[in-house]
Amino acid sequence: MSINLKNLISVLEAKWIGAEAAIFIDHISIDSRSLQNGSQTLFFALTGVNNDAHLYISELIDKGVQNFVVQYIPENCEGKANFMVVKNTLNALQHFAAYYRHLFDFPIIGLTGSNGKTIVKEWLNFLLSPDYNIIRSPKSYNSQVGVPLSVIAINEKHNLGIFEAGISTVNEMDKLEKIIKPTIGVLTNIGTAHDEGFLNLVQKIDEKLLLFKDCPVIIYQKNETVDSCMSQFAAEYMLHPRKLFSWSFRDQTADVFILKKEKRNDKTRIEYQYKNEIFDLEIPFQDSASIENAISCLLVLLHFEYDSATIQNRMQMLYPVEMRLEVKNGINNCSIIDDSYSSDFQSLKIALDFLESQKKNASKTVILSDIFQSGFSNEELYSKVAQLISDNKINRVIGIGSTISSFADKFSNCITFQNTAEFIAHFESLNFANETILIKGARSFQFEEIVTLLEEKTHETILEINLDSISHNLNFFKSKLANDVKIMVMVKAFGYGNGGLEIAKLLEHHKVDYLGVAFADEGISLKNGGIKLPIMVLNPESTSFPSIIQYQLEPEIYSVKGLNAFLKIAREKNLKDFPIHIKLDTGMHRLGFEENTLTELIETLKGNTTVKVQSVLSHLATSDDMNHYDFVISQIKLFEKLSSKLISELNINPIRHILNTSGISNFPEAQFNMVRLGIGLYGVSNDPAEQKYLENVGTLKSIISQVRTIPAGDSVGYGRRFMAEKPTKIATIPIGYADGISRLWGNEVGYVVIKNQKASIVGSVCMDMLMVNVTEIDCKEGDSVIIFGESPTVTEIANALKTIPYEILTSISQRVKRVFFR
Ligand SMILES: *Cc1c(COP(=O)(O)O)cnc(C)c1O
Repeated sequence: MSINLKNLISVLEAKWIGAEAAIFIDHISIDSRSLQNGSQTLFFALTGVNNDAHLYISELIDKGVQNFVVQYIPENCEGKANFMVVKNTLNALQHFAAYYRHLFDFPIIGLTGSNGKTIVKEWLNFLLSPDYNIIRSPKSYNSQVGVPLSVIAINEKHNLGIFEAGISTVNEMDKLEKIIKPTIGVLTNIGTAHDEGFLNLVQKIDEKLLLFKDCPVIIYQKNETVDSCMSQFAAEYMLHPRKLFSWSFRDQTADVFILKKEKRNDKTRIEYQYKNEIFDLEIPFQDSASIENAISCLLVLLHFEYDSATIQNRMQMLYPVEMRLEVKNGINNCSIIDDSYSSDFQSLKIALDFLESQKKNASKTVILSDIFQSGFSNEELYSKVAQLISDNKINRVIGIGSTISSFADKFSNCITFQNTAEFIAHFESLNFANETILIKGARSFQFEEIVTLLEEKTHETILEINLDSISHNLNFFKSKLANDVKIMVMVKAFGYGNGGLEIAKLLEHHKVDYLGVAFADEGISLKNGGIKLPIMVLNPESTSFPSIIQYQLEPEIYSVKGLNAFLKIAREKNLKDFPIHIKLDTGMHRLGFEENTLTELIETLKGNTTVKVQSVLSHLATSDDMNHYDFVISQIKLFEKLSSKLISELNINPIRHILNTSGISNFPEAQFNMVRLGIGLYGVSNDPAEQKYLENVGTLKSIISQVRTIPAGDSVGYGRRFMAEKPTKIATIPIGYADGISRLWGNEVGYVVIKNQKASIVGSVCMDMLMVNVTEIDCKEGDSVIIFGESPTVTEIANALKTIPYEILTSISQRVKRVFFR
């Protein structure tokens, strides 16, 4: 794209404040974190309930970004860049996308429905890509923000678009329709349940159909509800000629009638009738969702008038769709991002963004296969790829494939191999160490073999951490805070077991104000990992004071003895105004200055310029239990009194804070200037009503190592604590008490979930393994097992074991690999 900004003033209904000359942009961004090339970018400063991109603008100007769409010009930025001021930046982004869409005139497939959108989109891309240069929404970009970003990626070489539209309530589709303007509509599975956000199923269907207002072809599965919505819709939005193109398992009047579907080995054979002829089709899936999605694709192919042999040929090669990018620990302290499923220019951009936001090592490597179906000549394509790679400051590029090899000279620092096997033969000599590696390749290159080589070898048990859920939970608690109240997030104990550095990075992006850790070591490893946020250390031992100072950590000081020890070292080092945090004991009786030591504290601090009281805090003992309401109030009152005394006698203006997670929920009047969020970030609330608003963060997963059936009378495990009363199928899972699974959870107290069904733990939990009863479950070796997550929840396990979720989370051993995804 190359667009003159001045042309956009009227499109966006913006006020222009900036240079007079014509300015051309070739790139749109909304994400300050991943933005790397500046001057030709137009940055839309979106505002959410909890995040305001205007806050990042001055940073972006420093990075060289010059053009912004904003709702207001942030302080000190006027005159330093060009601004288009609008009422609402999201609306402006949408208007821009709709304007941009109209610059192109080729078929666009618009997908909506409750389930299957992304899979149908990916499959259509696969099925049609031999014949078209396709632009499609990346991943599941189908929201009010994702759709405009997807459409903006169209370029002059594309000749077919596939975009999905997702909505969660009424009045949203209207905007997406204007941006996508599909010429072929596909309604995927609509679901039966009525989702939150809609009154009923009919309203949900009606709203989704709005995507097809001006769409000459609509593909859908016929059934009574959809049919009645469809005829009303057709009456309301008359379009001639409009083709309704339907399919059904039951209704013979559908255009494509499915006569038969039968399972064969691990495939399904489908017999369908179309235009009075009967055809055969085989797809490599058996579950009903995949069959429906495949039939939606079939109708698109029929609409494009493919012959049945080509259809059969391509559809038998459909594959499971992997929809997310994963970060995994690699060998030699590498971390790897596995995107070994696709290789096209657009998804490369997204993967590079993700690489930047997740990089744990300063050095970035990309392993990239040939790129297919760009529409550009190879010369042009690889120039663009090389530019993108250089904008993203990638340290080394490893190209695999004959085409990319022939363009190696376009890249700086690039090694190439003709194929994956040649790469593997040279693997050792490439010396992968201390780098973050993006592995991105088309399916045919089988880069999963490279992933296997680079992945750290541990046993099959992992704790999966959903970074998006962490963001969600953070925003939920932020929304409870009064304006100007700061937030400290507790990442002690390795982020409550969820992984310290990765979570700290995410929190830094979200601009929380402080991090809190228990010990200096934890703070040091965060600083070594590149975290710049201020970090408070709750429990600094005096032996760690020198390193606290060296790493610019901020100690919590809780006794006169500790204060004097710190002051002594601080004076020796000639420090000035070094930030410390004063902890007051208001009733918890763990750490802190009690009321009777306050005078001595004040005496010691008076006139002191070596340290600065950055904050004053206390901790509540019972914020989660309303039976102790009065006690909490007494703590808060005492905190108010003691901290006020400190403030007035020392004439200082520190941050004051006392609330932890439950405190934020139950005592909103005591937010003072900051709160300390802990367990809530990780998706656990002490209040069942509040729990509903939080998203699960960690899922502890393993696999089945072995399955056997034992006869009645046989026993399982140490001590023979399980006796089979009838023939019983037993599965062994490689996770045990050394991984943090309490032995109390064994012997049929606890369970795991396999294929959405509960499997009771039989016999005693061993050190590295446990056994479960799978008599009623159709499962085999290698199948996935959930130890906790959505079900059972950590809270459920904690209740059964008479402990608290904190203990369950922090008990998961460090030998369990953490895998982060969004
Ligand atoms: C751990 C901790 C918190 C956070 O508590 P949650 O209940 O997890 O929110 C807050 N303040 C202090 C001093 C803590 O030690």
